[in-house]
Amino acid sequence: MPLFEYHCVGCGSVFEHLARTAKEKPAACPRCGAKKVEKQFSTFAAHQAPEAGLPGCASGSCSSSSCATGACPFSAS
Ligand SMILES: [Zn+2]
Repeated sequence: MPLFEYHCVGCGSVFEHLARTAKEKPAACPRCGAKKVEKQFSTFAAHQAPEAGLPGCASGSCSSSSCATGACPFSAS
């Protein structure tokens, strides 16, 4: 099954959703519950941390202080 990445407009978190079809959308953001989510097309879970729920560094929305992976390329220095 295809694994899609979604970006939450509300809180900026990136999460993955296992969809049976390309038209299927996740019900809501797992973090804040917002239903305004946008599908990510640029990446395909290649650089995702194995733990679920971590902020997606590829989104550019996390900083060095909030990045749980410790390897955020967007960290402000
Ligand atoms: Zn959210």
